[in-house]
Amino acid sequence: MFDYIIVGAGFSGSVIAERIANVLNKKVLIIEKKNHLGGHCYDFKNKNGITIHKYGPHIFHTNFENVYTYLSKFTEWKPYQHKVLGVIDGQKIPIPFNLNSLQKIFSEEKAKVISKKLIANYGFGTNVPILDLLKSDDKDLKKLAEFIYEKVFKNYTMKQWGITPDQIDPAVTARVPVSISNDDRYFHDKFQFMPVKGYSQIFDKMLSHKNIEILLNTNFKDLIKLDENLKQVFFKGKIFTGQLIFTGSIDELFEYKFGYLPYRSLKIEFENLPEKEFQTAAVENYPNDFDFTRITEFKKFMNEQSDFTTIAREFPLSYNPKNDDLNPYYPIRNIDNDKLFEKYKSEVEQFPNIFLVGRLAEYKYFNMDNVINNSLNLFDKLVKNG
Ligand SMILES: Cc1cc2nc3c(=O)[nH]c(=O)nc-3n(C[C@H](O)[C@H](O)[C@H](O)COP(=O)(O)OP(=O)(O)OC[C@H]3O[C@@H](n4cnc5c(N)ncnc54)[C@H](O)[C@@H]3O)c2cc1C
Repeated sequence: MFDYIIVGAGFSGSVIAERIANVLNKKVLIIEKKNHLGGHCYDFKNKNGITIHKYGPHIFHTNFENVYTYLSKFTEWKPYQHKVLGVIDGQKIPIPFNLNSLQKIFSEEKAKVISKKLIANYGFGTNVPILDLLKSDDKDLKKLAEFIYEKVFKNYTMKQWGITPDQIDPAVTARVPVSISNDDRYFHDKFQFMPVKGYSQIFDKMLSHKNIEILLNTNFKDLIKLDENLKQVFFKGKIFTGQLIFTGSIDELFEYKFGYLPYRSLKIEFENLPEKEFQTAAVENYPNDFDFTRITEFKKFMNEQSDFTTIAREFPLSYNPKNDDLNPYYPIRNIDNDKLFEKYKSEVEQFPNIFLVGRLAEYKYFNMDNVINNSLNLFDKLVKNG
């Protein structure tokens, strides 16, 4: 029998499985409905030797030294500083908007004037929320804020979330930053890398342990049932007295009895092209044109050499749990949905041996480093509780 059952083989499930197997020397079963490990971080090499991220581009970046140290046991790293370009009015400009973007959009003279004003008012090296610029008495700065809102932020947000301009949360708009610097990097974390042999290889290493058994292509619903009266977990029809660590969708665990937790999904269209290079940056955003939000050119992450290239266009759309072709990508957080999540969470809390961890179980957008950190913390808690 197993001491722990873990639903989901993404980072949340895999990190905790690895810790339990290695440190506690206990037996773990992982149940995963996909035909591979790694959850959303799964990648593979295609026939041209290019590493493809099946569920969209994944860049490892963190300020958590413990997460970096932990993951380094399973991979070597290639330094990578992520830069994103936005295609605006036929120009490719650095995103988030900064002083270099300014120079691409405006004439040399105008860009100089606005840069000077930004630096004088807010200081070089700062990030100014767009709302502050909108409130400025200076006509140029106000116009700049309006330009960024209209051309960089508004349409991208509408596409990404499937909403109209009046549904855009003013609090989110207010926080859109303008960077008063010439630093084009998208992230500023202390550790920024790509795993040399890809993410999937990390999962293979983490989970190849005699204490870990993995069932792929298996939905937990076929093996696990909850008895809501007795507050007990049943595995293959028998009471399971070990611990269940659940990283799947919390609403699915309770058969959606209070309703569905809404997500945005993505249709990702891949294209192999007989050319060495398709675009300038690894990721280029299209806020104002086309139905897709961005194009990723995968070979650029690892500087992989090939006469071919592979790109992916991301088309956002609504998630429907009944459609097996769709994945729940981004939780749609608002007061009502958070309340619904809390309702499910309080159901889980009545089961003494169920623990939630991960982006689906906690209904939050987490980066990889957050979920790894959360899993390491959950492991510590389990150890403390004995
Ligand atoms: C488009 C996109 C780009 C991203 N880019 C980055 C990035 O650049 N950097 C970064 O740090 N983070 C990025 N992330 C976030 C990253 O993907 C997540 O942090 C990470 O995948 C979360 O891991 P997880 O284990 O919690 O969830 P997942 O990886 O989703 O794993 C959950 C697992 O549970 C399984 N499961 C679900 N239901 C069942 C069921 N019924 N039965 C059995 N198994 C089930 C799923 O199949 C899945 O394998 C990105 C996310 C998206 C959507």
